[in-house]
Amino acid sequence: LSGVPSDVQTIDVHTHLFPPYYLDLLRARTEFPRLVRRGEREVLETVVEGSGLPLTPKFWSVDEKLAFMDRARIRTSVISLGNPWLRFLTDDEESASAARQINGIFGEMVDSQDRFEALGVLPSWNIDLAIEEVQRVADEGVLKGFASGPTVCGRSLNDAALTPLWEVLSSARSLFMIHPGEFVADGSALNLTAAVSFPFETTLAGARLIGADVPLRFPGIRFLLVHGGGALPFLLGRLDHFSAASGASQPSKQARAFYTDNLVYRDESLWLVGHAYSPDRVMFGTDHPFTDDRPEALNSDGLASPRLGAETVDHLTAAALFAT
Ligand SMILES: [Zn+2]
Repeated sequence: LSGVPSDVQTIDVHTHLFPPYYLDLLRARTEFPRLVRRGEREVLETVVEGSGLPLTPKFWSVDEKLAFMDRARIRTSVISLGNPWLRFLTDDEESASAARQINGIFGEMVDSQDRFEALGVLPSWNIDLAIEEVQRVADEGVLKGFASGPTVCGRSLNDAALTPLWEVLSSARSLFMIHPGEFVADGSALNLTAAVSFPFETTLAGARLIGADVPLRFPGIRFLLVHGGGALPFLLGRLDHFSAASGASQPSKQARAFYTDNLVYRDESLWLVGHAYSPDRVMFGTDHPFTDDRPEALNSDGLASPRLGAETVDHLTAAALFAT
């Protein structure tokens, strides 16, 4: 590995990059979501005029990503696109073509740098085209899977229409990251979007997968629920209580198949995460560029709970996952 100290082994499974090609798609738009110039800077507006995310180079620059990785002592980053993904492209062909382009860009990053892995993006709205892209990406064998919002092709994750998609993802043994960001609750005025409404999107998405027995029926898919799976670890008791399912399809049993990240920022919460999922399924994430730091203090044992080995979270689980 070029220039990486040998003691740096961290694998960051939750980190985003928005390629310039993708930003151009947003620049071409007048409706939300759109990228607009406000004075000296560009702002990504998703729902509110005049309010949004200032676009800085860390959102699109590979060099900035590498600089962050060096600063935060991260050896490998698993790059994914973030919201709004391709939901704003309603033309099927345009959406499929954009997905191929972005997945190609991520593939080139993986091929040209020994410090990147990547998850692709699916075409929005059309399940047949999404299936085609899964098969194409699987044949190429460069990307490790896909990142998606809490719905796929406009469908809730318990929708039977997604069955053929789950089948191809399962035979490809894809990693499938479920990430929030499709809905913005009224809490946005109080800055509660990222803290509260995002985790609840993930909670619902995970509960819907479980409700439809998707983890049980498609064991080849490695689901990765970000941010510790939102409130899911806390709510598994209630899900079991109000579910008619028993045995292996009991919600708390199915949840153990999920992978997740350690982005919960609190030891007690991580302890719960380590109990809700299998302890060897919790992996390190940063959510860069939305944050600029590791979720735990550098040079500490991290947010390891008694059940979670620090090295297991830091890189061992991810390394094993990517090796298979
Ligand atoms: Zn994220």
